[in-house]
Amino acid sequence: MYDPLVSADPGGLSYPDSYWVDTAGNAPDDDGPVQADFDVEVAIIGGGYTGLSAAYYLASEHGVETAVLEANGSGWGCSGRNGGFALKAGGRLSYQKMIKRYGETMARRMFDEIFEGLDRVRGLIKDEEIDCDRQPEGLLWVAHRPRMMDVIRSEAGFLKDFFNYDVDILGAEELKAQHFNSDEAHGAMRFRDGFGVHPLKLAYGYHRLARAAGARIHTNSPVKEWYREGDRHLLVTPGGVVRAKKVICATNGYTSQTLHPKLKDRSFPVLSNVVVTRALTDTELSATQFVSSDVITDTRTLRFYYRKLPDNRILIGGRSAITGADAGNPKHNDNLMRALKSKFSALGDLTYDYQWGGWVCVTFDDVPHIHEAEDNSIYYAIGYGGSGVTFSVQAGMRLAEKVVGRTEGHDLPVLTKPAPKFPFAPFRRVGQRALYHYYFARDEKR
Ligand SMILES: Cc1cc2nc3c(=O)[nH]c(=O)nc-3n(C[C@H](O)[C@H](O)[C@H](O)COP(=O)(O)OP(=O)(O)OC[C@H]3O[C@@H](n4cnc5c(N)ncnc54)[C@H](O)[C@@H]3O)c2cc1C
Repeated sequence: MYDPLVSADPGGLSYPDSYWVDTAGNAPDDDGPVQADFDVEVAIIGGGYTGLSAAYYLASEHGVETAVLEANGSGWGCSGRNGGFALKAGGRLSYQKMIKRYGETMARRMFDEIFEGLDRVRGLIKDEEIDCDRQPEGLLWVAHRPRMMDVIRSEAGFLKDFFNYDVDILGAEELKAQHFNSDEAHGAMRFRDGFGVHPLKLAYGYHRLARAAGARIHTNSPVKEWYREGDRHLLVTPGGVVRAKKVICATNGYTSQTLHPKLKDRSFPVLSNVVVTRALTDTELSATQFVSSDVITDTRTLRFYYRKLPDNRILIGGRSAITGADAGNPKHNDNLMRALKSKFSALGDLTYDYQWGGWVCVTFDDVPHIHEAEDNSIYYAIGYGGSGVTFSVQAGMRLAEKVVGRTEGHDLPVLTKPAPKFPFAPFRRVGQRALYHYYFARDEKR
């Protein structure tokens, strides 16, 4: 598997053998690989949600000539591999920590920014009629231990008191009656906002919107070298050199160490794996009483995320290998199946049909950064953690605003500050391994 901390070139790779690829239909038409040198106002490196939405907003709202350069196919990275949880979230920092770090006013503004991201995706799907198997609203945060209900109640109180935001608290019996019967569910918090989607269909939807608005999308066009010549950036792809006045780097968790010095060591790619089971039989459905279409996570720090898909398969994801070289090790999928079966002992015979993984992008300070990195000509957005289905599109809109210099409301720290460099960057994975052991012990043994 392409490993951004090891390899410099993510190009020449086909889509993973995922459930999403099998069920998304054909990839939309694109402009093919770059075949000759050309000039463009804005080049966007990376054709995931961030790059495609930035292209859409630049072309449709600001009339800017834009070309997306994607190493493989649109949505080949995280955007076509994720769990499809559209959440009211942005990065990994809790609101309590945000208040401590930025103060109350900025925390409230960040809450609004995050909410706008979810509204934006909801609105685009509805208004632009993006066919992406959108599910009804509902996110369950399930207590995996009885004591976690205290954490849930306290969080619900905080959300109400500080943001006037209402959630529902479900006891174990209500959860069972309304959603599913799990051996490992002691109650839950239910957010009324958040829903499941088919992530690759969503990426294809943004691709179509961006192209319809006039953006060019060059697939199979990895940027292998990046020079500066006067006021132009020269992006070297196998088929030609793209000369751009401005560049948006939308490579997120797939950013290689060598793509550009401004991005080096500012993000940490962390593997997450997904398995999709065969469809549940009628007997399994009635034994688990799994009627919920909500997206679901548990209260572990190393959380599992899962959902029942419209065709009655179950998707479950969670932490995976540390390195790309170990990504194919079946033990990571076995871990996910073991976790699923300990949640639902009635699914003892369940097997899986699909498995794949992808690089989630984490920053040192646990928040995303949407940043102008160099004198009004290089921009990037990185570090949404496991919340990029919605926050990426907010980032795409903000990147487009930055490019055209419309920066009212850009005084949030996530929109002004560069992503900090990781200290001791070469040892990021050593620290990750240690943290995994610590969190596992805390989640499972206490
Ligand atoms: C297994 C998994 C499950 C997840 N589940 C969820 C979830 O349920 N909900 C949620 O909100 N988030 C989830 N996420 C995170 C979410 O998918 C990402 O935050 C989001 O898709 C990021 O979008 P992006 O466009 O910024 O990056 P990506 O979609 O990763 O796109 C980056 C693109 O850059 C391209 N690229 C890299 N280098 C170059 C180069 N040199 N030249 C040209 N192109 C290049 C890559 O080919 C890639 O396509 C999950 C992630 C993973 C891996």
